[in-house]
Amino acid sequence: MQDNGWKEHFKNRIISAEELSKYCRLSEEERAFFKTEGKRKQNGQSVTLDFAVTRYFLSLSDCGNPADPVRRQFMPSLSEFIYKEYELPDPLGESEYMVVPGLIHRYKNRALLLVTGLCAVYCRYCFRRHFTGRKKGIIGREELVNAVQYMEKHNEIEEVLLSGGDPLVLPDGRINDILGAIKSRLKKIVVRIGTRIPSVLPQRVTGGLISVLKLYRPLWIITQFNHPKEFTGRSMEALSRFIDAGIPVLNQSVLLKGINDNLRTLAELSGLLVKNRVKPYYIFQGDLAKGTSHFRVPLKRGLKLIDELSKEVSGIGMPVYAVDLPGGGGKVSLPGADMEKNDDKGFMIKSSGGKRYSYPDESR
Ligand SMILES: *Cc1c(COP(=O)(O)O)cnc(C)c1O
Ligand code: SF4
Repeated sequence: MQDNGWKEHFKNRIISAEELSKYCRLSEEERAFFKTEGKRKQNGQSVTLDFAVTRYFLSLSDCGNPADPVRRQFMPSLSEFIYKEYELPDPLGESEYMVVPGLIHRYKNRALLLVTGLCAVYCRYCFRRHFTGRKKGIIGREELVNAVQYMEKHNEIEEVLLSGGDPLVLPDGRINDILGAIKSRLKKIVVRIGTRIPSVLPQRVTGGLISVLKLYRPLWIITQFNHPKEFTGRSMEALSRFIDAGIPVLNQSVLLKGINDNLRTLAELSGLLVKNRVKPYYIFQGDLAKGTSHFRVPLKRGLKLIDELSKEVSGIGMPVYAVDLPGGGGKVSLPGADMEKNDDKGFMIKSSGGKRYSYPDESR
């Protein structure tokens, strides 16, 4: 892979309906999305998530087929304007835990730093859509200094998760600056980077990037593969590059209706991850982000699928099925959760803090 070719590839992402329709036949509904979105932009109304897809990710889809599992991940639809009354602009209540701009400290020993709102592909189900694609800049020097100072004062923090957006869309130099600023002051901190790059722009995983990341080990990559179709020579090579450099890779998937919500797909996905030396870490129940109900799998169905999956795959192949409780309850593993059915509110699920949070029953 040519080292700087990824930048061209990133720049050449498809960001308009006109360009997209050269490759995919858009349905009425899809065309209507772009029209509505254009009008909202003109009127200065708040927009949903931006649109962008890499030519690479597009090429994995069978774009003539509206049900294609890759196409559905990047293709917007009018359903994104359907808001359920229980959906929230910030479903995880992250702003409540934002201790300094960009730094979210919810769990005692780990903190999450939002370094950019940019992504290579905007996943239509993204739960952080109030931030993703909006704040397109890179974390500023002052913000970074303040975040590092906070973490220095709170020495219970053992791990920092870089997220956004996608930290690996930044140039090597900026990634080096951010990691350098963190590690020069917090020598013992473990770094995790949450990124979709291996599945959507594997060309980004260059020798140059690896040599920067290697300087900051122990460093973990948390990637996102949702469907077996995302495994290609290129993406598998990208995963190997991290792992061969002593950078372990874990995967987080999202359980997505019509994309991976069947046993065969989930079992195959798990097998491919394990064969590529990647540990399936989490599979998330859809968060209650505004305009994403068409992607959510009803909770009871999710539980049944995951129970079936646990009988099909090995221990290392089994992810934790978890939900981030709406409104700031934090993550809980669903199979073991203390859960009650309440007819008005759906499910009342107990958080690790002992409080109950409601999650809707969408099976009706
Ligand atoms: C998910 C998350 C973490 C990491 O949690 P793990 O269970 O260790 O993966 C840390 N901080 C925030 C705010 C999170 O949402
Ligand atoms: S890569 Fe992650 S942050 Fe970016 S749109 Fe997809 S889910 Fe959201």
